[in-house]
Order: sequence, then C-alpha cells, then structure tokens
Amino acid sequence: METYASILTATSPASGTTRTLLDPATGEPVGEAPVHTVEDLERAIAAAAAAQPAWAALGHEARSAALLRAADAVERSSEALAVLLSREQGKPLNGPNARFEVGACAAWLRAAAATELSTETVVDDGETHAELHYRPIGVVGAIGPWNWPMMISVWQLAPALRMGNAVVIKPSEYTPLSVLALVNVINQELPEGILSVICGGREVGARLAEHPAIGKVMFTGSTATGKAIIRSSADTVKRLTLELGGNDAGIVLPDADPAAIAEDLFWGAFINTGQTCAALKRLYVHDDIYDAVCEALTKVAAAMPMGVGLDENNVLGPLQNKAQFEIVSRLVQAAKDSGARVLLGGNPEAGQPGYFYPTTLIADIDNSNPLVAQEQFGPALPIIRYSSVDEAVAMANALDVGLGASVWSSDPARARAVAARIEAGTVWINKHGAVDPRVPFGGAKQSGYGLEFGVEGLKALGVPQVING
Ligand code: NAD
Repeated sequence: METYASILTATSPASGTTRTLLDPATGEPVGEAPVHTVEDLERAIAAAAAAQPAWAALGHEARSAALLRAADAVERSSEALAVLLSREQGKPLNGPNARFEVGACAAWLRAAAATELSTETVVDDGETHAELHYRPIGVVGAIGPWNWPMMISVWQLAPALRMGNAVVIKPSEYTPLSVLALVNVINQELPEGILSVICGGREVGARLAEHPAIGKVMFTGSTATGKAIIRSSADTVKRLTLELGGNDAGIVLPDADPAAIAEDLFWGAFINTGQTCAALKRLYVHDDIYDAVCEALTKVAAAMPMGVGLDENNVLGPLQNKAQFEIVSRLVQAAKDSGARVLLGGNPEAGQPGYFYPTTLIADIDNSNPLVAQEQFGPALPIIRYSSVDEAVAMANALDVGLGASVWSSDPARARAVAARIEAGTVWINKHGAVDPRVPFGGAKQSGYGLEFGVEGLKALGVPQVING
C-alpha cells in the first residue's frame, strides 16, 4: 500500500530549514515540513505568473479534464492521504473525518470541472448587444486554516484553476504536510508552476495578501486574520473571498421530535470534534422539550468514542493544538463557574498525551456566558432554554458573526419561516453544516463575504468583463 511518506518525499525540498510536525493525539513525529521564507514565496509567485497565460489559453474543456484527472489521482492515493491527515490534524480515519475529507477533495475537484459558466447576454434589443464574460484573474493566493486543511484548500484551488488562474497556497503552520501531500498528488496532472505550496507563518501570509502580482486572495480562517488581510490587500485593491469565523446557532422548535433529531444535532455540533467553522455552537431549545432534548443528546454523545485517529473505533479525536485546547478549557470553566449544569464531560484528564478534551454538554446556561458568546471551536455545546420563538431568534441574531444556523421542527414550512428571520449565510433545516459543491456557501456579518461553490463560486474566481457593441 502507498504510504504518505512516499507522497511527501515527492515534495521539492525547501530552500532552508525544516520543522517537525507532531501528532496531536500522541505527540509522535508525523513528518518534516519545509520552512519557506518570503523569498521562496517571491519565486513561487514569479513561476505562477509565468505559467498562468498558457494555462488560461488551454480553455475550460482542457482545464476541466485536468481537474477530473486530478480527482482520480486523489482517489488513487486516498488512503495514504487520509492516514497523513489523521496523524497531522488529529481527526479519526473513520466517521465524517479523514477519509470523508479526502473523498470531499475528489468530489469538489469534479464539481468544479463539471460546473458550466456561460457567457451571459444581458441586453440584446437590436441597438445594444451587451455580454458579460469572466476572464481569468491571474495569480490567486489561497490562505487556509488547520481544521479541514485538505478540503478547504480544494475549495479554494479547484475553482481558481478551473477559471484559468495559477494558485499559490499558504497552508496553516499547524497542518502544512496535509496540504503539501494533497498538492503533490494533484500536481501529477497539472503543468509545472500552476499550483504551488509555500509553508510559512503569518509573515508569509501577510506578504501574499499584499503582493502586487496576486490578483485575488481566497482566505479561510479567523475573523481577526480576515481583517488583517483586508488591510494588507487595500493598497493593491485585491479581490477577496473571506470565509471567517462563526458561532452558529440552532433553534429547536417545540414541535421537534427529540429522539429523531438527537443524532443529527450531535454531528451538527461535534463534526471534526467541534473544530468546524459552520458547526452548531449554540443550541436554543424550547422549554416544552428542553429536558427531552438534553436527555436524547446526552445519550447519543456519551456513546461516541474519542481517541487516537488511526484506531478505527474512534469517531472523535483530539483538539488539533494546545492553543485550541486552552480556549475550550477556559470557556467550559467559565460556564462551570457560572453555575451552569454539566450534562456530560467538562473534565479533561490531566497528564494524558494528546490534546483530548471530552465531549461536553452544558445545560441551563445564560446566553451571555462566554461559552455561548465566543467561538469555542471544540467539543463543547451550550444548550440554552427559550420560551418564545421571538426570544430565540433575537438570541441567535445577537452576535456580530453569521456563518450558518439551523432550525429543527416537524413542520418544514414553519421551520422555513423561522429560518428567513435568521442573520446567517446559510440556514439549514433539520440538519446543520451540510455543505454541497452545487450550493453556494458564504458568511453574513463578520463571518465574511463572497460565495464559494457552484456557478457563483466560479464567478468569484474571474474578473467580470462586459463587451458592449
Ligand atoms: P487563523 O486566522 O489563525 O489562521 C488562518 C491562516 O491565516 C493561517 O494559514 C495563518 O498562517 C494565516 N495568517 C495569520 N495571520 C495572517 C496575516 N496577518 N496575514 C495573512 N495570513 C495570516 O485561523 P485558524 O485558527 O487556522 O482557523 C480557525 C478559524 O477559521 C476559526 O475562526 C474558524 O471559524 C475559521 N474557519 C472558517 C471557515 C469558513 O468557511 N467560514 C472554515 C474553516 C475555518
């Protein structure tokens, strides 16, 4: 069987030193990542700029064919990629985790290849003939986070390549190996220079965001970094797609069936051990069924095994890094200190290897508690009681972020009416966080701007040009 070491050794050697990445579940070494500098970034951007015109000239059909071959290549290496992702990021192989993420990479590559973007005739009245075209931007910079490193890289690179751009990726310093290996596999099917990875820290990201030869930045990460990127990109008036932080609310209406929704609620909140931008992070439950929902959710959550990712039994893993472990610990402690009721978890074991934080459910918590008001980004879910739908909607809308949200009900029409009142980029009904390559995805408020996926996602990687004559 192919091992991830063989995909990683195919990486071109770094110009300088390397850094050892450690498995967040065990502390064992996973591999060596190059430590690239701003000079390496300059070289990658120059190579991308030189290669891009020929790639653009190939046309949509040839580029789509290359993306389809890249999807096949990802599938051929899928197990090696999933093992590396599991070891570096921490997510288990099993469940909606590492194998699922690698599968999504192939699916999004195929979707970007298959989506049609036709020239639009906007006026044709005998006097005016105006057409709207989308031209390639040039070189696109992609900056990503550590929670879904492979999948989010594909969300950025696949539509960018399809539209005739070259791409330089700056992965998170926590998960560079996953992105390097994925790009090595995809590059088996692409011309030289079109897609490259530069592994570096914030300074490399900041240079990418201000570089005059970068026409657009696709950024996924925290709201604070998104604001820094807006500032760095201002002098060159760069195009931006910003997928930023969230703190998604779910509202359970009184007519929902607690036992029927418990497992979907669980995965909506705890997918990737809660380290998911559009995961359910605040659950509002009507008084009438509050106790029944707490009980059903606790039963499901208590049965989900957490542990080392390569063990096929596990469906939940560690937090990816110490800083995230400390954020979750601090916020759960604030909830406990306030007198909120711990239904499950809340007591990490000291002295264990790995950043494991137990699955935690907290009931009878105030809406202003930090565990509710801040993005905890981990396996902890506060459950807040409400007695009128107006009150629940007001609490859901009270924050300055709005990525996703969900409404849970046995009556879809009633759920849709509540959904329309929520300030979020996506509102799911009786599910949470289900992304689909055909359906546009993006944030409201300080969760960012711009859409990914589908035809809207392709448009965002082109420069609109009107030809009027
Ligand atoms: P982060 O903002 O700390 O880092 C993201 C990336 O930005 C990293 O590659 C980092 O090196 C780089 N970076 C840091 N400072 C920079 C600067 N000044 N200029 C340019 N680049 C810079 O985010 P993270 O901790 O890796 O990821 C977690 C966050 O990402 C959470 O807030 C989560 O909600 C968000 N997220 C959002 C989505 C979405 O689709 N909206 C998806 C996944 C994660």
